[in-house]
Formats: sequence, structure tokens, C-alpha cells
Amino acid sequence: MKPAPFRYLRPSSVDEAISVLAAEGYGAKPLAGGQSLIPTMNFRLALPAVLVDLGRLDELRGIREAGASGAVDGLYIGAMTRHSDVERSAVVRERAPLLAEAMPWIAHPQIRNRGTVGGSLAHADPAAELPAVMLALDARIHLRGPGGDRTVQYCDFCTGFFSTALAPNELVTGVEIPALPSGTGTAFEEISRRRGDFALVGVCAVVSLDASGTCSSVAVTMLSVGDGPVCAKTAEDVFRGRAPTTEAIREAAEAAAAHDIDPPADIHASAAYRRQLTRVIVARALETAARRAAGGR
Ligand SMILES: Cc1cc2nc3c(=O)[nH]c(=O)nc-3n(C[C@H](O)[C@H](O)[C@H](O)COP(=O)(O)OP(=O)(O)OC[C@H]3O[C@@H](n4cnc5c(N)ncnc54)[C@H](O)[C@@H]3O)c2cc1C
Repeated sequence: MKPAPFRYLRPSSVDEAISVLAAEGYGAKPLAGGQSLIPTMNFRLALPAVLVDLGRLDELRGIREAGASGAVDGLYIGAMTRHSDVERSAVVRERAPLLAEAMPWIAHPQIRNRGTVGGSLAHADPAAELPAVMLALDARIHLRGPGGDRTVQYCDFCTGFFSTALAPNELVTGVEIPALPSGTGTAFEEISRRRGDFALVGVCAVVSLDASGTCSSVAVTMLSVGDGPVCAKTAEDVFRGRAPTTEAIREAAEAAAAHDIDPPADIHASAAYRRQLTRVIVARALETAARRAAGGR
């Protein structure tokens, strides 16, 4: 199908983009990589009257380390940074290995060459990898709108099914990922029907071990098992304060599958199958993250 008619505007600064969005009102939509917006327009699920192309906004592109901007702890990624640039970044591999491990799971190389970090976070697909990664890493989203700049903790940004805390005419400008404490390991696991398909289930694990080898903090987040990225709080409570033994890992994975998720049933998988996948890949992710936290690869 072809999209409904729309006007196309291409501002050359973030402030101009925000003014244009405000002037055009409800019918205007930002266009980033177009990898979600254009298909939904072609299916006529989205009917924006005006597309405001962010492609010229170089100020929204790039990956910076802590210190480079003067105000950022860890890593800052501009909203218009493409998935492929994140995937290939040595800084991301070093500072946010969980993000680096998740990137190749997003769609196919052609889509990663166009799709952007800000586009994925604004779109908030419950089956997307980046929202679950940002939740696990306790990231902060940077936003700019007619009222100025603000930051939102990622756990408050995703508000439900394809919904976020973005205000009207506001843009995602970037995402800030805090540095991982020492003694921390991370792991990403996903099962999809074919490589490149959206996940049937995906999981991120971030495990910190203290000097005695006990888990001092843990984050387990999941994708494709709820209305948005899901924080597996019961599993975290089961795992925290224990050594990462086979028994602790098994109990945490069981808790995630039984209590933390409300998986959908669709043409790709039943809810029961998604629960079983959850049991298996939460255990794998916790085991790998704990091993990495202890210094192993
Ligand atoms: C075949 C196919 C398979 C895919 N598989 C996966 C997958 O496995 N995992 C996955 O995560 N994604 C997948 N995607 C989606 C892909 O990752 C998209 O790139 C991403 O979801 C949206 O990024 P975009 O830059 O293309 O955004 P767009 O499509 O341009 O925009 C998406 C939405 O975000 C808004 N928006 C964009 N940028 C901003 C901004 N800076 N501020 C405010 N609002 C903004 C737009 O108005 C629109 O509503 C797939 C896409 C396709 C076509």
C-alpha cells in the first residue's frame, strides 16, 4: 500500500524542528530512520499530515564517553545515531557491553543502517531490544520541547503499549547510560523464529557480585512478554543476596516465568511457550552475567 498524502519538512536545527512541530500541531510527526514509521504509514495505521525529517540534525548524532561532554557519566548516545553505528562502536563494547551484545539482534543489517536509537525509544515497541536494554542499564532519556530540555529516568519513560512520557512536540535528543560498577557482568539472550525477526522472548541481565561472590545487585528485564519492557522484580528479589549457584539461578528463572510476565499469545507463539522460553533464557542470561561479573568471559 501507499501512504496517505503528507507534507514533508526538513529543518536544519533541533530548535527549528521543535518550532515546526509546534506550529504544525497534532498532525505532524518526526521522521528518523523511517523503519517503523514508514511501514505504519504504508499500512495506513499512521496518517501524519506532515513529516518533520530529523535527518539533517547532526547535533543529534554521535556517541560520547564520560567526560567528553562535561556532564555525562558513562556513555551518551544521540537520538539520531544509527543502530549500525552503535553496533560497530568500540566505546559501546567497552562501556556498555549489554547494549553491544543486543544490537545485532535488532532486525537485519539494512534496517540497522537506517534505524536510529531515538526512533526505537520513541516508538516503544514491546518487542524491541533497546527499551529492555535501557531499563536494565537504568538509562536516562534526554528530551527537548518548546519548554526546554528535561531528562527522564528510563523506568518512567515507557508508560505502556507503544506509549511514552514524550510530551506533544517534544523530541528525544539522546540517552545517557551510567557506567557499570566494578564487579558487574551483563548478558543478553533472545529467541526468535528466524534471525532478524522480532523476538519471541528476550532478556537482559546485569549482575554485580561483592568480594565474597554474593550478588549485591541485579537487574533482569525482558522484551516481548508484556505491554512494554518488563522488569522481572520477583526474579531479582529471589537472586539478590545469594551466591549465583545453579539453584539460585533456577529459582530466579522460575520466578520470572511464573510471576513477572504476562506474555501474549499470537501466531508466532503461545503464552505457555513464551513462559517456557523465559524459564530457559533467564537462567542462561543470569548464569552468563554472573560468570562475567566474576571475571570470566
Ligand atoms: C522488517 C523490520 C524488522 C524489524 N525488526 C526489529 C527488531 O527485531 N527489533 C527492533 O527493536 N526493531 C525492529 N525494527 C524496527 C527498527 O528497529 C526501527 O529502526 C526502530 O523501531 C525505529 O527507528 P527509526 O529511526 O526507524 O524511527 P522512525 O520509524 O523514523 O520513527 C518511529 C517513531 O518514533 C518517532 N520518532 C523518531 N525519532 C524521534 C525523536 N528523536 N524524538 C521523538 N520522536 C521520534 C516517529 O515520529 C515515529 O512515531 C524492524 C523494522 C522492520 C522494518
